[in-house]
Amino acid sequence: MYEPVLVLNANFEPINVCTTRRAIGLVLNGKASLVLNGRGVIHTVSRTFPRPSIIRLGKMVRRPRPTVHLTKREVLRRDDFTCQYCGQRAPYLTIDHVIPRRLGGSHSWDNLVAACPACNHRKGSRTLEQAQMRLLRPPLEPPSSAVYLFARHIHNNEDWMPFIEGW
Ligand SMILES: [Zn+2]
Repeated sequence: MYEPVLVLNANFEPINVCTTRRAIGLVLNGKASLVLNGRGVIHTVSRTFPRPSIIRLGKMVRRPRPTVHLTKREVLRRDDFTCQYCGQRAPYLTIDHVIPRRLGGSHSWDNLVAACPACNHRKGSRTLEQAQMRLLRPPLEPPSSAVYLFARHIHNNEDWMPFIEGW
């Protein structure tokens, strides 16, 4: 009942992922309709219904386009779990402030990069110039495309792809 279900807005824009339990609730009280099933059925005491994979809201929900939340995990994902100094895909990565905090560096997409512990230690709280180190690529805010936003679900839910691509 806790498997992810893709929620589409009334215009088919993918906006959210919810649990199977919540998706069934939305369908049962008429707020959403089933777009795709194929995951078998669910039995309750009195009924049997298809287990949803994608649902669509009946009414358009107006909301700002979702953006990627700035978290350690998302910085690592943007950087492909690769140290941005030495290019190593280390099993354990840290987050480095490119411009150190003590020099006024901000906690933002363009100042945070994945760094292996060795490179982070080597750089210390110095600037790139001071440490004579270079980044593999400039750090930028990741795209807010639906494919990027929902990427972690796509591997296990390939049937979502046609509904996610292009948004
Ligand atoms: Zn490194």
